[in-house]
Amino acid sequence: MIHGLSIDVEDWYQSTIDPDAPLTGRFEASTDSILACLAEHGIKATFFVLGLAAEKLPHLVKRIAAAGHELQSHGYGHRNNFELSRDELRADLARAKALLEDLSGQEIYGYRAPCFSIDERNLWALDVLAETGHRYDSSIFPLKTGRYGIEGYRPEPRLVDTPGGGRIVEAPVASFTLWTKRLPVGGGGYFRLWPYPVIRHAWRQMQRLGRPGLVYMHPYEYDPTEMADYHDSVPLMRRIHQGLGRKSFPKKIDRLLDDFEFGPLKDALAGPLSELSEA
Ligand SMILES: [Zn+2]
Repeated sequence: MIHGLSIDVEDWYQSTIDPDAPLTGRFEASTDSILACLAEHGIKATFFVLGLAAEKLPHLVKRIAAAGHELQSHGYGHRNNFELSRDELRADLARAKALLEDLSGQEIYGYRAPCFSIDERNLWALDVLAETGHRYDSSIFPLKTGRYGIEGYRPEPRLVDTPGGGRIVEAPVASFTLWTKRLPVGGGGYFRLWPYPVIRHAWRQMQRLGRPGLVYMHPYEYDPTEMADYHDSVPLMRRIHQGLGRKSFPKKIDRLLDDFEFGPLKDALAGPLSELSEA
């Protein structure tokens, strides 16, 4: 069973604190650290690259593609999808897709929304994705958290009907069940805070259920001193929350990649993607 590894390539300050801020080039060194980690493990992953990030560092996008990784879209401007109109979302998706296709020469057909911003409010976004040539989406968080997600959403990647009558593969990031409660384990603060044995238990559970577990991570999780460097411009609580567990993150990823088989999402989703192409 191939589990899926994905990286959302973006600049922490612009994507997390201020969408209008110019991007720093800081994510170059940390993305290179991730590329080195993948090379060491001999595995390929999926890079969902933000359009703005591709414009800032086009040579980085070419480097990712040249290393044989799967390149897909994180949209253009890192705006929450539920705050956009259909036309605004269509424009954002088309701009990112054209930009990344020009840079890489590869077809872009996978997408992850900024901050998992597709939920009950805007399932029509799946129509816009299908209309703009996307065949899979990894944006619906399969449980409700403070900021995003749909409670009780089916956790396994599968082919779904969009509200307007289209079809797309929906691929929620990893979750597992503890007693009777579904919990997130695919990335972010949860992955940073769970002790590794819990993470391994979760992957064993998903594997038993025949369900690929999808990991999402960011360049900034490979940049342990970033929070300290923003001490003047980011409130203390935000820095604590965003900085917690950063140091241990790459070590946990290393162990997970040693213990289970990982690859790009196009491989982890091969079953439902071929169902879509046969439909
Ligand atoms: Zn993002």
